[in-house]
Amino acid sequence: MKLMKHYLKSFLFLELAKGLSVTLRYLFARKITIQYPEEKTPISPRFRGLHAQRRYANGEERCIACKLCEAVCPALAITIDVVEREDGTRRTSRYDIDLFKCIYCGFCEEACPVDAIVETDIFEYHFEQRGEQIMTKDKLLAVGDKYEDHIAECKAADAPYR
Ligand code: SF4
Ligand code: SF4
Repeated sequence: MKLMKHYLKSFLFLELAKGLSVTLRYLFARKITIQYPEEKTPISPRFRGLHAQRRYANGEERCIACKLCEAVCPALAITIDVVEREDGTRRTSRYDIDLFKCIYCGFCEEACPVDAIVETDIFEYHFEQRGEQIMTKDKLLAVGDKYEDHIAECKAADAPYR
């Protein structure tokens, strides 16, 4: 009986018809794919992307090298070296974030007392060379400089960066 059923299925192309019916159903269904990168899906307001370091309006970097972000980082992704300037203020001589270690939890941003380190909504970045995943202080400041107006606007409105 089992064999008969098998032969019947094969001769009547029942499985093929079943497969084609699925194709036909999806042919007229609402499309769920998009033409990326021309089209983009909405980003969650809770999304956290590439980090940035911010400056004050006078160009002075905000970071005071308190190391709170380094201490709070659960992935140990942040490495900070500190120098004291002549006027007694502290600044970082090295501020690295290893993006391969980072889990984008946002703790560094929450811990920062001066809103120096922030996570933007930038997710379109890639690395081609070994070591490029280390976001150095210069790279972080460059991201911050580029998006400062937008970041400041969102911070003031307590809104996500988009
Ligand atoms: S987002 Fe989280 S894991 Fe990444 S650097 Fe900040 S504290 Fe560390
Ligand atoms: S980024 Fe903020 S929390 Fe981290 S060392 Fe600088 S001031 Fe402190």
